[in-house]
Amino acid sequence: MSNSLSSHSPEISLNLPLLGPDISVVVPIYNEVESIPRLIDAIADSLKDTNLSYELICVDDGSTDGSVELLREKVAITPHLRAIFLRRNYGQTPAMSAGFNHARGRIIITLDGDLQNDPADIPMLLAKLDEGYDLVSGWRKKRQDAALTRLLPSKIANWLIGKITGVKIHDYGCSLKAYRSELVADMHLYGELHRFLPALAFIEGARITELPVRHHARQYGKSKYGLGRTFRVVLDLLTVFFMKKFLTRPMHVFGFLGILAILAGLFLGFYLTFVKLAFGENIGDRPLLILSVVLLLTGVQLFSIGLLGELLMRTYHESQGRPIYRVREAIEHKEK
Ligand code: UDP
Ligand code: MG
Repeated sequence: MSNSLSSHSPEISLNLPLLGPDISVVVPIYNEVESIPRLIDAIADSLKDTNLSYELICVDDGSTDGSVELLREKVAITPHLRAIFLRRNYGQTPAMSAGFNHARGRIIITLDGDLQNDPADIPMLLAKLDEGYDLVSGWRKKRQDAALTRLLPSKIANWLIGKITGVKIHDYGCSLKAYRSELVADMHLYGELHRFLPALAFIEGARITELPVRHHARQYGKSKYGLGRTFRVVLDLLTVFFMKKFLTRPMHVFGFLGILAILAGLFLGFYLTFVKLAFGENIGDRPLLILSVVLLLTGVQLFSIGLLGELLMRTYHESQGRPIYRVREAIEHKEK
């Protein structure tokens, strides 16, 4: 593998120190005590033959099964290993976010702490990233999970996410991914958004691809999720959809709908006034009157939401110094 991984830094993030390892491997851990020793060894093995330096960041998400104590012991005897202990169980997305914030590498690899992802696939992802991508997502082609409660909902969710976000990858839920760190450095994750990182990155103009990876059945401990996750994922999807389409122009949705509703309401109102004044018709008991009033009220509300959205959007971008665009590279002429 070449070393060009390190030379690629189109937009260097401010919170990255200059001297970090090449790679940060970020692993969320919630009650995975049996898996941790093999995980640490497998990651060391997979990176041994590359000439890249790395750190392994285990983010403990409030484990209660002894993972905390084990991680402490391991950190004391394992080079490259760092552990971050969250105060309580926050969930996988916050745990990964904590890992991102502490990562010092130029490349970030994420994977699950339960050995369902195979650390041996990491070099393959790195090689793919080296071809010029900003994000390489794993695709669990032969996924080892329950068919009805996990595979089917995930198939539907993946299809839906692909349709709505326009990012065509097969498996959003796969934690095994490789990123250039400048991509995640200013990504803000909420809810279950970690699985939408490819979509969010795509919105920010990143070059994305996927690669089939191995997947194993869970050997130790048990899954932290059930069917309920699908619903949360779908709700998050709506958020992402909105971010993609209208984040910088909420007035274009709400204002437009609001004005339509107001115009329709006014039209009906004028019509009713007309028939009342011109023909002396009784309009007090007409459904049209109710419709007109409802349209006017919702119209005004939609319009105001659009205005508020514009204000909030400005606060969102300006308070964080978040540009509304992303530069891949800027070059200029230099005199020899
Ligand atoms: N995880 C976490 N906090 C949670 C739930 C899960 O850090 O609240 C971690 C968990 O330890 C594992 C990864 O997230 O490393 C994926 O969880 P799990 O294997 O239960 O999900 P599944 O593979 O069943 O989708
Ligand atoms: Mg798992």
